[in-house]
Amino acid sequence: MYQAFLFCAICERRMFGKARRDRGFYVCAPKPEYIPPDHPKSLWIKETYLLEPLHEFFAARIFGPDRRELLAAALPEADANEGRQHVERDKALNDALTDLKKRRERQFHALELADDPDRRFIQGVQARVAELDDQIQAKEAEIASHRQKAKAMKLWADQLCHRMSMLMVAL
Ligand SMILES: [Zn+2]
Repeated sequence: MYQAFLFCAICERRMFGKARRDRGFYVCAPKPEYIPPDHPKSLWIKETYLLEPLHEFFAARIFGPDRRELLAAALPEADANEGRQHVERDKALNDALTDLKKRRERQFHALELADDPDRRFIQGVQARVAELDDQIQAKEAEIASHRQKAKAMKLWADQLCHRMSMLMVAL
């Protein structure tokens, strides 16, 4: 059962499984010319000696009474981290959008304040406003796409949490 992972402690050869009188053994039996000086002709280990500690390990760590609590405690924390990152990014994008809108507002204001705006001044303001309009549109698109992505991530995280909780019930 575990022979792929079992190696002889003396010669480091991989051990093989063998049944004798209905009992399982792991055996290391190198050819006589390859037997190291401190190695018995053949080494036999009862399977039960190895299986008992392994079963204990699985029972305690993998199937132990605290396994659900340990997993459940780890999951919401990961979810909250993900959510916080999205909220921060969303805020940064919205701040940038507000800033662009304020700058556009200042252009209009400058136009209002000018006593006798000449053609070039008005054209300059128009060009700058058009530029800012483009940037505002791009920023709004970025915010929409980010929110969509965050929504998809949330959905994915919820599904993962659900599946993990199903797995925990199954364990
Ligand atoms: Zn050996």
